[in-house]
Amino acid sequence: MKKLSLLGSTGSIGTQTMDVVRMLKDKGENSIELCGIAAHSNVKLLEEQIREFKPQYAAVFDLNAAKDLKERVKDTNVKVLCGKEGLCEVASLEESDVVLNSVTGMVGLFPTIAALSAGKPLALANKESMVTGGAIACRIAREKNVPILPVDSEHSAIFQCMQGTHKKEQIKKLILTASGGPFFGKSLDELKAVTPEMALKHPNWNMGARVTIDSATMFNKGLEIMEAKWLFDTELDNIDVVVHRESIIHSLIEYCDNSVIAQLGVPDMRIPIQYALTYPNRFESPVKELNLTDYMQLTFYKADEKTFKCLASCKEALRRGGLAPAAINGADEEAVKLFLNKKISFTDIGEIVTEAMNNQPDTDNITVEGIIEADRNAREFVIAAAEKI
Ligand code: MG
Repeated sequence: MKKLSLLGSTGSIGTQTMDVVRMLKDKGENSIELCGIAAHSNVKLLEEQIREFKPQYAAVFDLNAAKDLKERVKDTNVKVLCGKEGLCEVASLEESDVVLNSVTGMVGLFPTIAALSAGKPLALANKESMVTGGAIACRIAREKNVPILPVDSEHSAIFQCMQGTHKKEQIKKLILTASGGPFFGKSLDELKAVTPEMALKHPNWNMGARVTIDSATMFNKGLEIMEAKWLFDTELDNIDVVVHRESIIHSLIEYCDNSVIAQLGVPDMRIPIQYALTYPNRFESPVKELNLTDYMQLTFYKADEKTFKCLASCKEALRRGGLAPAAINGADEEAVKLFLNKKISFTDIGEIVTEAMNNQPDTDNITVEGIIEADRNAREFVIAAAEKI
């Protein structure tokens, strides 16, 4: 049996991971037992998860919520931890065989570093770890000789398409697909009137609030380009984005002979979650079969980087390197909050995050302290800029 530490257990990826764990029951050495879980503050769901899966450790990021949880589960044997330290402790438990990090935001970098430093294989759903600290995380993974297994659907698709590839030089291009989100085809003028309610309705995927807004602005695809650079050790020029409205092809690889390999499936995160946990094996999953004739046709378009400025600016951040990706990510985390609270408009997000990225000085020296500072400066920049609007 594999012992799993699951970070972000009450979120969208976390609850779908629980589904996968239920499905993998009775699969012998591929069965999964939860030894630790961590979440931000949803104690009601954490309590249910503790009673069902009986982990030895549960970390709650929010201190008051941790006190509440302690009270609720005092009849069980679980040890309740709290704060960032608790999160990192669950990420590096002696007994865990694998860590799944599905924390939202740059804060996920800390448990990523903790898990890899402890020599734990990491199933990664927290893109911000790679975007902000890919240089550091990949170096630790190399030193400790532990794999980082992608959970993001596009990166899982690329990883799946790579199986059997023996020479990296034979890969010409990674092609990330993008759904285009709810506002595909809209003009900049039309986007000005977009409300949080409109942006929170994604046509294909069911996800948390930040990633749903990021999908609507296409910032999410920008994050995924930066993530791909580190996960697959490639450069911006070798990463393409194509809008594919149906979200059936999850990404593709073009090889040097122009043969293109794609991974397909119905849009359901439980496939990439399960593959990361059972790799290199495959098992039955709770996901529906793909019936191609249900779709009749699959469509493809060029991404509109003029209208969806976030995508162009994320590419620019990757081109600049250093702390520019950390700055643009921190700026976006803050800008999305302001948009959801109706303090800024939908189109302000692209403008503000670009300015915040431009405000970040160039450097080659990437340290955790530097990332924290760039993140904080970018957030402050966004809050100040929003006040002037
Ligand atoms: Mg994705």
